[in-house]
Amino acid sequence: MTPNRYINYFLIIVLITLVIYFGRKVYREIFPGDYPMVTPTAESKFIFGENEIIVKLSATTKNGNIIVYTYGPDGNFYGMLKPIKDLSITIRKGDNADFMVQVYGREIGETSFMKKMDRYIRKVGMYDLLIEAVEKKWNYGVQNCLYPICTRCTDGCKSVVSTSNLPLVMSVMDNGEIKPVFRKGRCPRCGKCIIWCPSGVIQKEKQPWEK
Ligand code: SF4
Ligand code: SF4
Repeated sequence: MTPNRYINYFLIIVLITLVIYFGRKVYREIFPGDYPMVTPTAESKFIFGENEIIVKLSATTKNGNIIVYTYGPDGNFYGMLKPIKDLSITIRKGDNADFMVQVYGREIGETSFMKKMDRYIRKVGMYDLLIEAVEKKWNYGVQNCLYPICTRCTDGCKSVVSTSNLPLVMSVMDNGEIKPVFRKGRCPRCGKCIIWCPSGVIQKEKQPWEK
């Protein structure tokens, strides 16, 4: 290889580096904020025992908590907040659901919190309901979004945009999970929901050069 060719390669590399560097700066100036991105929940494997159910997870969440959910005979969503320990959760007989959310297709209705600080207003055993869900083929699983215990992203977004047609809405997924769905065209990219989300579900969308 001739020395001239080395110089040409070197100049091409320098040119590409400069284009990326200045391209990022220009992109940032035109689009100063960050689009949010909703991350998928970790994979889970439910191991059903006589007195407990162990759920093995492929990843944890930012704050180490996750929701275990199942649908009930009324077609509604029942869930409980669980801490993750060593990528695993345990649901024991006698553990009760913390809340119930009414579900209408993809839409969500009223939420009832069944656990107060000192007692349960209504007891729904999660162990028994999960066993029934397996038998009757109802949706069940885990979700990294802490809805309805947390509603920070949608509540906060209401304070950022003037329209009631929010860019971030809670919706029911095919597997029964309740998660925010992000509608890009309506988002002014304040980036606040990324900061507010305690579990790391909402993250900064990767920039073209990070993909
Ligand atoms: S809080 Fe609302 S407006 Fe701000 S980035 Fe999130 S979705 Fe967009
Ligand atoms: S802020 Fe995060 S955890 Fe809370 S409801 Fe929104 S996505 Fe779920």
